[in-house]
Amino acid sequence: MLNTKFPGIARESTALGFGCMRLPILPDGKINEPEAIAMIRHAIDSGVKYVDTAYPYHGGQSEVVLGKALKDGYRDKVILTSKLPCWAVQSHEDMMRLLDEQLERLQEDHLDFYLLHALDIDRYHKMQALDFKAFYQDALAQGKIRYTGFSFHDEKAAFLEILEDYPWQMCQVQMNILDENNQATIEGIRRAGEKGIGVVIMEPLRGGLLADPPKEVREKYAAFPVQRSPIEWAFRYLYTMPEIVTILSGMSNMEQVEDNLRIFAKASRESLSAEEKQLYAQIRETYLQRMKTRCTGCEYCQPCPRGVAIPRIFQGYDRSLLRENGSFKEGYEKIVASEADASRCVRCGKCEKTCPQHLPIIRFLQEIRAAVTA
Ligand code: SF4
Ligand code: SF4
Repeated sequence: MLNTKFPGIARESTALGFGCMRLPILPDGKINEPEAIAMIRHAIDSGVKYVDTAYPYHGGQSEVVLGKALKDGYRDKVILTSKLPCWAVQSHEDMMRLLDEQLERLQEDHLDFYLLHALDIDRYHKMQALDFKAFYQDALAQGKIRYTGFSFHDEKAAFLEILEDYPWQMCQVQMNILDENNQATIEGIRRAGEKGIGVVIMEPLRGGLLADPPKEVREKYAAFPVQRSPIEWAFRYLYTMPEIVTILSGMSNMEQVEDNLRIFAKASRESLSAEEKQLYAQIRETYLQRMKTRCTGCEYCQPCPRGVAIPRIFQGYDRSLLRENGSFKEGYEKIVASEADASRCVRCGKCEKTCPQHLPIIRFLQEIRAAVTA
């Protein structure tokens, strides 16, 4: 297991972190507790030193199940992170109330990292106005949290503004082969590194897109002198970056745990070769050329006042374009059935004002609707 370190923090972490947002579920939608606990403990027994959860994951049950998994001595073996649901904070007092509620769910007396969850610039300004800094000071002084940080979904300028405003110890951002110039961007990650702020990565497989590549990408991987699975290529792109401390993988079954453990057991910090960098550029180009919308799934455009599931439609359509003979017809019919399809759009323009990718959402919605209902 590749061990890593957060700058300025004595505790050791690992390049692989266990993300508890996609734990195994039962047919009734509840977490399969015995399976989830076995997976988390197996990962920790195999050397994983970082576990991540958040208030809303699995409707609040992720924190409860993780708390059970960390009993019997497992808590002491990991850095434990959870996140303050900033959208639920209406007053200064709400912050400590929510933290206490989360500690109770986890049955813990303290967290290691406590992040402001899913910041965009408007949410950050709200948290500034509610004086999150004084809250952090109190929570740190009371020993309820050890370190501060934030998770982020917005543009680079917003990321840099937040980064410079507080002595954060960590930031959690979306990064993968396709997102070099999206959201925080590689440049933003480099800046965090310069400031001595450890970077934790989410969406390393871009919602699974990189785990199941189109034929041309598979052929490019197969032609490379060193053979790796698409998942290993996706992780390698990240664990070789010196600023990245931990990469979160939302594991859903024991097979995925084993596969990730195998990949990270032989991972190293050695830099990418020129040939590997060239390969990643080709892979990125191939994906992006095939995709119509290139929606990153950040959900900034949500909620739509008419309930249009924009990211679901865009990502579903892009995925279908990446598959051989792929069709989005069936997926789109499900969206129609849940009354979230493009026909409900009244062209109010709200979504386009908030999309950090500046996508022509209204036009794309109509074009996708025409293509899949033709
Ligand atoms: S333009 Fe259409 S999709 Fe966008 S927010 Fe308005 S109704 Fe929703
Ligand atoms: S359409 Fe834009 S705002 Fe909405 S999820 Fe996609 S990238 Fe994000």
